[in-house]
Amino acid sequence: MSLKSKRSDVSPFLVMEVLEEAERLQREGADVVHLEVGEPDFDTPECIKEAAIRAIRDGKTHYTHSLGIRELREAIAEDYLTRYGVQVSPDQIMVTAGTSPALFMLYSVLLEAGDQVILSNPYYACYPNFITFSEGIPVHVDVNESEGYQFRPEAIRERINPRTRAIMINSPSNPTGVVLSPERMAEIAGLGPLVVADEIYHGLVYEGKEHSILEYTDRACVLNGFSKLYAMTGWRLGYVIAPPDLIRAMQKIQQNFFISANAFVQWAGVAALKEAGPDVMRMRDTYAARRLFMLEELRKLGFEIQNPPTGAFYVLVNVRRYTTDSLSFAYDVLRHARVAVTPGIDFGSNAEGYIRLSYATSMERIGEGIQRLGRYLATLPGRA
Ligand code: PMP
Repeated sequence: MSLKSKRSDVSPFLVMEVLEEAERLQREGADVVHLEVGEPDFDTPECIKEAAIRAIRDGKTHYTHSLGIRELREAIAEDYLTRYGVQVSPDQIMVTAGTSPALFMLYSVLLEAGDQVILSNPYYACYPNFITFSEGIPVHVDVNESEGYQFRPEAIRERINPRTRAIMINSPSNPTGVVLSPERMAEIAGLGPLVVADEIYHGLVYEGKEHSILEYTDRACVLNGFSKLYAMTGWRLGYVIAPPDLIRAMQKIQQNFFISANAFVQWAGVAALKEAGPDVMRMRDTYAARRLFMLEELRKLGFEIQNPPTGAFYVLVNVRRYTTDSLSFAYDVLRHARVAVTPGIDFGSNAEGYIRLSYATSMERIGEGIQRLGRYLATLPGRA
């Protein structure tokens, strides 16, 4: 069957394709080191699992309020108050089955055909797809390695016009691992358009401190979720904090198309926020040590990272010495070195010639993966 609709024409998420190829090789018996995956290798903390089991036993198996159970929305509001000192009403929060559906619903109510959203380049691979799916236009502003991948507010200002509906930020960022400075966040908040802030990597910061956009403006929408900080990718739980008119519009989308997030998963979310603090600290300390180890191992191979990332669990590595085609490079590394990496092109034209490595895996596998990569690179001509 030939699918001709515009909405069927979404670009593939390349990292998932690399992962699928890696899994195919593994089925043939290969030992592949996974440095491509964007998800914690940790198991979900026990207290969260226990809460879900308890919730199922207690019969929390029905539809919930379309905005999410009150207890979770109150816990989220409390979390934003204690972490950032910002007041958020539980009525301004909608709980969703992950940050991804929250993004989907947000852009579906925010955008009219032709509306523009300013994004960094590189960006999280799926962002432009959420925007174009709702007939919006992603407008890219380059962020560069030499500037620590910090968004320059002046560069954003130049792209603002009457069709600009929002500026999107993601700090700590996937794929750069960079945390936006408070000064730049404040400036971005003051530029005029609504700010959409994906705060999913909040809590995973190893130097300094991250800030919420809500500290600087309430003309903002925050997306966040439990996948990364609480190692809950498979549970599918996230939320959006937004001004009341947007929440109401998204609530109607949720009611019609999703009804609600899973009931017992929402109770697990309450436990995550209230009880999983020590587990989060343990996981964060482990990522912190792995980050330094990965940077050191890369340095040994001659990859000097100019501005080392301080958040999330990614390092973007410049491999332009070896290739201008990061996708074929990623497949070559996979086939010859048995290391799965994410091609930079997944994150936009400005990350072409880069690969993204994730340190959400054990020190041992990080060490093994980078050594294999080094042995493979030694066989390449390597342009200076
Ligand atoms: N935003 C960013 C920046 C991400 O890296 C991811 C996951 N890779 C998501 C959103 C989606 O997360 P979720 O599991 O909550 O849908």
